[in-house]
Amino acid sequence: MQSRQYLLASRPIGTPNSENWNFVKTDLPPLGANQIKVKVLYISLDPAMRGWMNEGKSYIPPVGIGEVMRAGGVGQVTESTDPKFKVGDNVYGTFGVCDYAVVSTQGIHKVDANLAPLERYLGVLGMPGMTAYFGLLDTGKPKAGETVVVSGAAGAVGTVVGQIAKIKGCRVVGIAGGEEKCKYLVDELGFDAAIDYKNSDVKQGLKEHCPKGVDVFFDNVGGDILDDVLTRINMKARIVICGAISQYNNTTPVKGPSNYLTLLVNRAKMEGIVVFDNIDNYGKSAAEMAGWIGEGKLIAKEHIVEGLETFPDTLLMLFRGENFGKLVIKVDHQK
Ligand code: NAP
Repeated sequence: MQSRQYLLASRPIGTPNSENWNFVKTDLPPLGANQIKVKVLYISLDPAMRGWMNEGKSYIPPVGIGEVMRAGGVGQVTESTDPKFKVGDNVYGTFGVCDYAVVSTQGIHKVDANLAPLERYLGVLGMPGMTAYFGLLDTGKPKAGETVVVSGAAGAVGTVVGQIAKIKGCRVVGIAGGEEKCKYLVDELGFDAAIDYKNSDVKQGLKEHCPKGVDVFFDNVGGDILDDVLTRINMKARIVICGAISQYNNTTPVKGPSNYLTLLVNRAKMEGIVVFDNIDNYGKSAAEMAGWIGEGKLIAKEHIVEGLETFPDTLLMLFRGENFGKLVIKVDHQK
């Protein structure tokens, strides 16, 4: 049986383009011990994928040239040599950008389509949701009545950060691109305010919407927005460095914050997070988040694009701000 796969053909300079990919059909190997064959149904598109395309040291090794592009996914088991996994089981794992995969069962988790739509296990109930939960609660440590600001607020991680902060009794201000996204944050998700960084002045917006200053800043974006928020932080503020998507396609060095001395003045803390550090606790937090979804306190939103072949351009939607919620590809399977 053959699998359609996107292989990394070369490392991008700046924004990835079609030359960085090889779309191939490859024969799948027969199953070894404790392996499963998976029909991939949904593929997670994540800003981190841009980092995995680069050479060099990071929190996980880069994808090698000629290898299937790494990606999380949800799929259905079609063959198994591991008694713990049966044909028909729905599973989450790192299957890559492909329509079928043969993988070892280590690190594969079953997911239940009766509890939530399968694509949700790539969003709120998956890696971005866990990033928001642990990054905000363990590192941001918000207290009721404090002001929490989140950038990339209308995305997979940002929407969850803001909603959890509301559940914890905070004033929540989101920063996102465009009127539609900002309106959604306030009208649908219950944020107290949203700042449209594409069409208004962020510093002015922070002054207006954070009259008591900023206690927690959850940053997904970096660059100028991080610098702007640093000018408004309170004593003992916590700045959670989750990501810096504004910098990922740079061909020049990453722009660091020039206003970092406000950390000194305010005895504030800036700390980076990596979601995988909390892997042992995902189950408990996913159950709590599922409870919030059931109570109507947490709204999940996915942005589904159909077709494996759309992958190179769909990935770029993240960097153009064209995704609205968790971006996933729904895989088509050719006969
Ligand atoms: P996402 O927010 O769903 O999608 C990316 C969004 O970033 C876009 O929709 C766009 O929204 C915004 N963006 C793109 N370019 C921008 C720019 N130049 N300036 C400002 N905003 C820009 O993606 P996500 O999966 O939730 O990830 C958000 C961040 O979290 C990323 O930085 C990612 O690397 C990070 N992350 C970190 C971890 C970890 O363990 N540390 C885990 C998961 C994700 P607008 O329309 O609002 O511009």
